[in-house]
Amino acid sequence: MTSPMGLEAALPTDSVVTTQLNRVINWARRSSVWPLPFATACCGIELMATACSRFDLARFGAEVMRFSPRQADLLIVAGRVSVKTLPVLQRIYMQMAEPKWVISMGACASTGGVFDTYAVVQGVDQYIPVDVYVPGCPPRPEMLIEGIMAIQRIIDEDNIPRDPTGKRLPLNIALTPNYEVRPQPVPLGIGTPANRTVPAGTPLRG
Ligand code: SF4
Repeated sequence: MTSPMGLEAALPTDSVVTTQLNRVINWARRSSVWPLPFATACCGIELMATACSRFDLARFGAEVMRFSPRQADLLIVAGRVSVKTLPVLQRIYMQMAEPKWVISMGACASTGGVFDTYAVVQGVDQYIPVDVYVPGCPPRPEMLIEGIMAIQRIIDEDNIPRDPTGKRLPLNIALTPNYEVRPQPVPLGIGTPANRTVPAGTPLRG
């Protein structure tokens, strides 16, 4: 005979749990978001860090990165998108499973960033619907996790906005940075054997 583990150990054996089918479906959906990483530049490195052990996206059930659009429901655009790449991005979006979600990660994906040129798309939301804008250059992994959790909350509440014809509308959630920017420049010091610091630029004495 095996001993009970997990949820069944916490519940009395003769109890019954009732719920609504919608709630179970939404709980399953939000607990198993499968992202497709469309990482074209440096933001992609932070995206990789988000899935690694330090930040561990698996805690939120969204670590199963899929490179096949038909197996993914969350498109994460991380990095600048060139005009030449745009048709690929649009095709990937169209091939993804419904209901699908889009995160625009970083300044380049949302606005073109510093690449104000004719060759770079000045915001992917001009061509595909974006649900969450994650700010930063690059955004920290915590910010990306916050963006994914924003989508999970909407899925959980069964709160998908639609127009009168039933077509899904983008959520248009813009996250705000959750850290305070330190004043710049930060004073630098040089360590000495006596553990004393002297301001940078002080001439060394022989
Ligand atoms: S937003 Fe910054 S970090 Fe991200 S792709 Fe653009 S330049 Fe790189």
